[in-house]
Amino acid sequence: MSLVRYESVSPAAEWCAAQRELGKTIGFVPTMGALHEGHLGLVERSVASCDVTVVSVFVNPLQFDDPGDLERYPRDLDADARLLEGIGCDLVFTGTLPQFFPDAIDEMGSLEPGTLRSPGPCAEGLEGDSRAGHFIGVATIVHRLFEVVVPTRAFFGRKDYQQALVVQEVARRLGGPEIEVCPTSREEEGLAQSSRNQRLSESEREVALILSQALASCDAKWRSGVRDPDTLQATLAAPFEGASGVRLDYAAVRDLAKWTAEDPIGRLDSCVALVAARVGPVRLIDNLILGEGEACEIQFGAGSRT
Ligand code: AMP
Repeated sequence: MSLVRYESVSPAAEWCAAQRELGKTIGFVPTMGALHEGHLGLVERSVASCDVTVVSVFVNPLQFDDPGDLERYPRDLDADARLLEGIGCDLVFTGTLPQFFPDAIDEMGSLEPGTLRSPGPCAEGLEGDSRAGHFIGVATIVHRLFEVVVPTRAFFGRKDYQQALVVQEVARRLGGPEIEVCPTSREEEGLAQSSRNQRLSESEREVALILSQALASCDAKWRSGVRDPDTLQATLAAPFEGASGVRLDYAAVRDLAKWTAEDPIGRLDSCVALVAARVGPVRLIDNLILGEGEACEIQFGAGSRT
């Protein structure tokens, strides 16, 4: 089957409904486009495990707190479609905010507040603190995308760790789809791939390596037996102190299961380290599950719907 491409929402919803009628399982990868290997890895997982694969490309204005960032976000649907065709994707679609929410756009073109979805408790702290309204925007569009596509399984990247927790909550409330979170795809030197990396100069790319290096030194601390969250957090933040060209936003460790900084006795059982920092014009995020590296995969089993 060759790639079907729709630039509005209704035909995409109809295409997906027809696939469901045929009894096909639908794998879904929501993206904002400017696709790179990280995205393509998710698509390949979907192609390998579902009958048909659907990718959405939508630069969701609801999740941007900085209008400049929204405006400068890279967009190239033709290039994205070429990449997707080459790896067996079946449908790529995009749309506009009014197409996604036809009954909820006010006279100013904004979404009516009643349509916004709560992102749940995992949205608190870290990205939730740094980017006002970001996870409300994520929860709202992901909820809507799941209603449009009604996927069997949806694929997300661990690079956006907290987002994956929010998405899991959305899926839990909707009763599906199953959420699969895939490992972070990195450049050879360790930089996590991101559409925003396109906006980094050569020298800024070098500077940006500090994020993955800081995570690696925190991982080494963990592997040496350290479980005290303050020590781990200090290890994570240390490389940023005095470093030029980079401004640390946060360096944090969280217990994997409880999503808190520490348990009552202040020792972590299993832990994810997370960093956010600004390099030149771009804000970057990255994380690592300590002691497990990239090989491990988290499966959020939110009851599947077929
Ligand atoms: P975005 O286009 O940035 O909204 O990302 C779309 C999906 O791709 C999200 O689930 C991201 O977590 C995932 N993603 C982005 N970058 C990477 C990466 N380097 N490795 C794995 N997944 C990624």
